[in-house]
Amino acid sequence: PEDQFKNVISHAKEYGFVFQSSEIYDGLSAVYDYGQNGALLKNNIKEYWWRSMVQLHENIVGLDSAIFMHPEVWKASGHVDAFNDPMIDNKDSKKRYRADVLIEDHMEKIRQKADKEVTKAAKRFGESFDEAMFRQTNPRVQKYMGQIEDIRGRFVDALEKNDLEALRNVIVEEGITCPVSGSKNWTEVRQFNLMFATKMGSVAEDANDLYLRPETAQGIFVNFLNVQKTGRMKVPFGIAQIGKAFRNEIVARQFIFRMREFEQMEMQFFVRPGEEMKWYEYWKEHRMKWHQALGFEEGSHRYHDHDKLAHYANAAADIEFNFPFGFKELEGIHSRTDFDLNRHQEFSGKKLQYFDPEINENYVPYVVETSIGLDRMFLAILSKAYEDETLEDGSQRTVLRLPLPLAPVKAAILPLTKKDGLPEMAREIFNKLKFDFQVQYDEKDAIGKRYRRQDAVGTPLCITVDHDSLEDQTVTIRHRDSMQQERVAIDSLEARLRELVSM
Ligand code: ATP
Repeated sequence: PEDQFKNVISHAKEYGFVFQSSEIYDGLSAVYDYGQNGALLKNNIKEYWWRSMVQLHENIVGLDSAIFMHPEVWKASGHVDAFNDPMIDNKDSKKRYRADVLIEDHMEKIRQKADKEVTKAAKRFGESFDEAMFRQTNPRVQKYMGQIEDIRGRFVDALEKNDLEALRNVIVEEGITCPVSGSKNWTEVRQFNLMFATKMGSVAEDANDLYLRPETAQGIFVNFLNVQKTGRMKVPFGIAQIGKAFRNEIVARQFIFRMREFEQMEMQFFVRPGEEMKWYEYWKEHRMKWHQALGFEEGSHRYHDHDKLAHYANAAADIEFNFPFGFKELEGIHSRTDFDLNRHQEFSGKKLQYFDPEINENYVPYVVETSIGLDRMFLAILSKAYEDETLEDGSQRTVLRLPLPLAPVKAAILPLTKKDGLPEMAREIFNKLKFDFQVQYDEKDAIGKRYRRQDAVGTPLCITVDHDSLEDQTVTIRHRDSMQQERVAIDSLEARLRELVSM
């Protein structure tokens, strides 16, 4: 998987999906640019999410709020006081780590040891993994599980109490070593705020301190009444938004998984107090189905219910995806209670209430949020789609098996040769299709080589114009995944494309 991940990263660059930001200046850490194909893929993911949320739900509407917000917003939201990561430095390597990530990685290693024992036992007794796990007769497995429970207990307790010394104690007592130097020589744990600060105004003295928003959600909360009133929305209803967010991540790693500038697709669903758990369960399930509908194989996703809840939540779960570097958070579903609206009421002095005509009552709605990182979704799709395939004749091809509606280019129009009027005919087809589909015209190199180029960017269909086309007005459609070819009348191309690649 490590190698696979390296291949995905270099493929993303080679084929114009993702570039490092400011590369000619040696790059900017944890900031990336999307290239010609990446921008198309990213837009398609956005559209796919937006349609499924806004277009397909009568009671969800969208908005697009500004990145800059009044500085009070971030006091009300708790970000000024509580949006911190506990960091610890290794004195020998001079590397800085998130304390909670160090401990979680440590627990994961123990879990892997336990899994190995269970797998061994399962083999010996001819059982399934689950059966062997269930019996748990193996004392070593029991020891590992006990160890994990113990660490988790202390860990969660330290986080809940915001006890930085206790957090450090877990690291020291567990003998956790620096991943780079192997040293156990740690500093104390300190808090780092993740928001980027900047100034608004021309004269330094009366400039206002602003933050770049670390999440899009607050732009939705402050507009709750605007949307509810002007859209005549009835609870339960949702507001969706796609937009940039900024976090000064200390440990930026794993390509576009953790960036300092990234994009979120968030939806805040406003519900009657007391009904939040029902909706929390609903969205948990609904969002999982959305992921699965994209054709990921069984077991690609799993839930991770949070033991430790953020200051605003009464229930929270992640949908984790099996990235090439293991299961990691892709999306969060959070029951945020009435925390945000209440705080904004308090800080702004404006009422943020809803009159519910069905029960004749005024209240501050509760909120269930779904929040997914667009870039993480991009990475999930790309790493899942990437395949180095050995064909039946022993030759190799690299193919991106992207879900068809998300593919950057839907079809490539290829004249078999550069003469005999084939390019003209191919161009004519291209010019007709381009109004409805992202298509590409390509006449350079042998046809086999052109197919490979399209495979590498995940183009689902190649439409080849040959000498027969001049006679009978038909063309060949070659399919990316099966490499099968079919003959189709030019007249019916548009309908066929629509059938195969539209969202
Ligand atoms: P993590 O624990 O990985 O830092 P988080 O729990 O802080 O994530 P949320 O605040 O719940 O993340 O943000 C919602 C979603 O935004 C995440 O599920 C993730 O997909 C995305 N996201 C958060 N931080 C980043 C980042 N630095 N780069 C890319 N995507 C991010």
